[in-house]
Amino acid sequence: MSTALETKGLGMRYGRTWALRGCSLRLPTGSVIALVGPNGAGKTTLLQLITGLLRPAEGTVEVLGRDARTGSAEALARVGFVAQEHPLYRGMSVADLLRMGRSLNLRWDQPMAERRLADLGIPLTARAGALSGGQQAQVALALALAKRPALLVLDEPLANLDPIARRDFMRTVMTAVAEDEITVLLSSHVIADLENVCDRLVLLRGGRVRLAGAIDDVLAGHRRLTGPRTGA
Ligand code: ATP
Repeated sequence: MSTALETKGLGMRYGRTWALRGCSLRLPTGSVIALVGPNGAGKTTLLQLITGLLRPAEGTVEVLGRDARTGSAEALARVGFVAQEHPLYRGMSVADLLRMGRSLNLRWDQPMAERRLADLGIPLTARAGALSGGQQAQVALALALAKRPALLVLDEPLANLDPIARRDFMRTVMTAVAEDEITVLLSSHVIADLENVCDRLVLLRGGRVRLAGAIDDVLAGHRRLTGPRTGA
């Protein structure tokens, strides 16, 4: 099976404090991977290293076999990213956001994005700031998917959503996975949020990968370490 993402000995520090250390992961193409860990575990740091927003202090990141450390255009063009605080420009309409995305991306799939948003009942004329939290999350996801990414990276996408918006958001993600061979890496504080949709899981704590592998194996290992499930 081909590899969507590989990190080797990846590390990042802020001042003297290591936020991530010795992170070596290989994620197969087409898998849906949950990155789970408590506050401050290093999840956002890892995702920002993968998406080229941060440069590592040590180690390497390869996306689709290309080095992402230098902000390699080819590698990063194939990565869709929804940040924890997705930076929708609140004063812009959904149509303006799509237009901006189209002007910045070569592989932009405008009809697919418009169809997805229409299916969700989100009007293109709506101002982003006037949409509900769930709708804003769907717009941010539609913009990331319109890039036709090979790797979709979502930083705590469910954190501020109510249960229905969470279900709808994950439904959109899983539809995209079913339609295209796309690898998804998404983070959460809580294993229970993601265990039904993911086939692999990476458990991060204190900046270190504690467990990684197929979801059933990792959950069994996690329960051996922590006893009955309490979260991450
Ligand atoms: P959360 O779930 O709260 O978002 P996280 O797992 O995403 O946490 P990170 O945000 O990656 O964790 O933070 C990892 C560590 O790095 C924490 O100790 C955090 O305080 C520290 N850190 C993160 N960003 C910075 C920064 N810009 N400057 C200094 N320290 C930082």
